[in-house]
Amino acid sequence: MKQTEYFGEDSLRQLIYIAHEHKAKKVLVVTGKKSFVLSGAKAYLSNLLKDLKVVRFSDFEVNPQLEDVWGGIKILRDFEPQLIVAIGGGSVIDMAKLVNCFAANPHRNAVDIIEDPKLIKYEGLPLVAVPTTAGTGSESTHFAVVYVRGKKYSLAHNFILPKYIILDARLLLEVPQGIAATSAMDALSQAIESYWAVGSNSESQAFSREAIKVILENIVPAVVMKQKAAIQELFLASNLAGKAINIAKTTAPHAISYSITKRHNVPHGHAVALTLGSFFIINSRKDLPLNDSREKEHVDGIMTDLFCLFSCNSGLQCAEKIHEIMNLIGLETDATQLGLISKDHIDFIVESINLERLSNNPVAVSNTILKFAVESNYHELRDTL
Ligand code: NAD
Repeated sequence: MKQTEYFGEDSLRQLIYIAHEHKAKKVLVVTGKKSFVLSGAKAYLSNLLKDLKVVRFSDFEVNPQLEDVWGGIKILRDFEPQLIVAIGGGSVIDMAKLVNCFAANPHRNAVDIIEDPKLIKYEGLPLVAVPTTAGTGSESTHFAVVYVRGKKYSLAHNFILPKYIILDARLLLEVPQGIAATSAMDALSQAIESYWAVGSNSESQAFSREAIKVILENIVPAVVMKQKAAIQELFLASNLAGKAINIAKTTAPHAISYSITKRHNVPHGHAVALTLGSFFIINSRKDLPLNDSREKEHVDGIMTDLFCLFSCNSGLQCAEKIHEIMNLIGLETDATQLGLISKDHIDFIVESINLERLSNNPVAVSNTILKFAVESNYHELRDTL
C-alpha cells in the first residue's frame, strides 16, 4: 500500500480534507496524556475537528502494553468512528496501529496473531499518523511494537502501515531536549542499522544514506539550539529512516535495546544508541562469521560507505563520533552510570536479546562480544575472538 503524505507548514490542516474524503462524522483521536497539550496538538485539533464528533483515547503509557490495547478497542467499538488519527510519539502511533488491527481482526489470543500475522484478514479503519517526535519513523512502517508480560513483540503486516502521514514540524517545537535527543538518536540508529542490515536493498539504502547525511548535519542545531529549519530537516530525515527500516528492519543495537528499556527504564532511542558505536567496530571486523549471504566484499563496501558518510577512516573513529554526538546532545554514554554493568544485568540483557533482529546484523556475534558491546569496551571489541 502506498501512503499519502503531507508535510510542511500548516500541513495538519489536511486533516479536514481527509475526514471529508472518508465522509467521517466521528473521529477517534489516539494521543499521549501530556504530549497532546505540550505539542500544541490539542489546540490545533480542537479548531480543525470542531465540526466532527471526537473521542480521545490516551489511557496507556509509553512503550505500549498489550493489556492497554483492550481499552482502546472498547472505545472504538462503542463509538464506531470512520477515521482514526494518531497524534504523538512512536508509542502513540504504535498503540493506534494495534487498536485498529486487533479491533478489525478479533481473535481469542492476540499473541497468536502477533506470531502468525497471516491471521490478519481485514485492514481496519483509515489511520492518519501525525508524529510529534523526530523520531521513530513509525508513521511509515508496517510494524507496531508491543510488550506482552515484559517481552517485546513486533506485530507486522502490510495492513498496519498508516494510510496517511502528516509531518507538521510545528508540533515539535516544544519537545524537551531529553526527548528530542533520544528520538533523534533512534532515527540515526535506524538510518545506520538499515544501511548495514542483512535485509537492506538498493531502495532502503537510498533512504538510509539521505537520512544519515541530513541527521548528522542537523542533530545538534535541532536538539540543542532548537533551530526551526534544523528541526524540520531532522523530522523529514527521521521519516526517511522509518521508510528504510520498513524494508530492511533493524539489527543488533535494537535487538539489545529492548531489555535495557524494559528493565532499566532507559528511553528507547537512548537504549539503542548505547551500543551503536560498538557495532561500528564489530561490523568492521574481518575475522567474524557473516549473517549476510552477500559475502565479505559487500559488507566491507557498506562499512566503507558509512565511514565516508561519517567523514571517518575506521569503525573505531565512527564509534567515537557517536559518543561525541551523544555527549553534545546530553545523553549519557557510560553504561556504568546507567546501572547496566553488573554480571547479573549483563547476563539478563544477553539472555533476553531479540534473536530475529540479531540475525539481521551483517556479522554474527558471540555472547562475549555482546557483553563488550554493552560495556562499550572498544579495546576488547577490536581484539576479542
Ligand atoms: P514516545 O512516544 O515513547 O514518547 C516519549 C515521551 O515524549 C512521552 O513522555 C511523550 O509524552 C513525550 N512527547 C512526545 N511528543 C512530544 C512533544 N511534541 N512535546 C513534548 N513531549 C512529547 O517516544 P518515541 O521515541 O517517539 O517512541 C518510542 C516508541 O516507538 C518505543 O515504544 C519504540 O519501540 C517505538 N518504535 C516503533 C517503531 C515502529 O516502526 N513501529 C519504530 C521505532 C520505535
